Amino acid sequence: MATSGSRSYVREARRRVAPKRERIREIIDRLAAAHPDATIALRFRDPVELVISVMLSAQTTDVTVNRVTEKLFRKYRRPEDYLAVPLEELEDDIRPTGTYRQKAKNLRGAMAMLIEEYDGQVPERLEDLVRLPGVGRKTANVVAAERGAAQGIVVDTHVRRLSQRLGLTKHDDPVKVERDLMRIVPREEWARFPHLLIWHGRRVCDARRPRCEDCVLTDLCPSSRV
Ligand code: SF4
Repeated sequence: MATSGSRSYVREARRRVAPKRERIREIIDRLAAAHPDATIALRFRDPVELVISVMLSAQTTDVTVNRVTEKLFRKYRRPEDYLAVPLEELEDDIRPTGTYRQKAKNLRGAMAMLIEEYDGQVPERLEDLVRLPGVGRKTANVVAAERGAAQGIVVDTHVRRLSQRLGLTKHDDPVKVERDLMRIVPREEWARFPHLLIWHGRRVCDARRPRCEDCVLTDLCPSSRV
């Protein structure tokens, strides 16, 4: 939690930057130049594999998920394959991703729904995606964005932290952060924007020790320490 000292520092500093609507285009352009490789780190070949990868990525790293799915996607080719093995076998196959019992149950539920209600295909609309067991708004947003049909903005821990530091939102609740971002980020940037914040958060704007001295946004950021 911010101390009153740091809060007043931010309040004071916020007077120095332009309103967020005037800064957002420049923020996006500079981050895009700084992180031209900012894309999803998960590996998948089709929409079903994308859904599964994103579901498995909860509470673990993308590196772990990619290691697991490399074998998983060789063994399970179609949604039906996830239902054709005993539950325990699927649990074993995804165990390194953590919370594997719940994930296996959700995976089977999601695959069953795809087969029964969507002809084995991944639906495009967010309202349909969030009906799949284990698929929340964040997962649905990731899936929709990667398929070129972003209908919202992914808010994870990096996106939330950087949005707050950049003065793009005052909220903590991811749904409210997303709503604030959707009002100012141009729609054609909804898919790319979270990747830019995630990569910037990992490389520069660290949660504990932001490296403002190496940041391309210092003059656009109300929380800059330089
Ligand atoms: S200036 Fe500092 S606080 Fe602002 S985005 Fe850059 S690293 Fe983060």
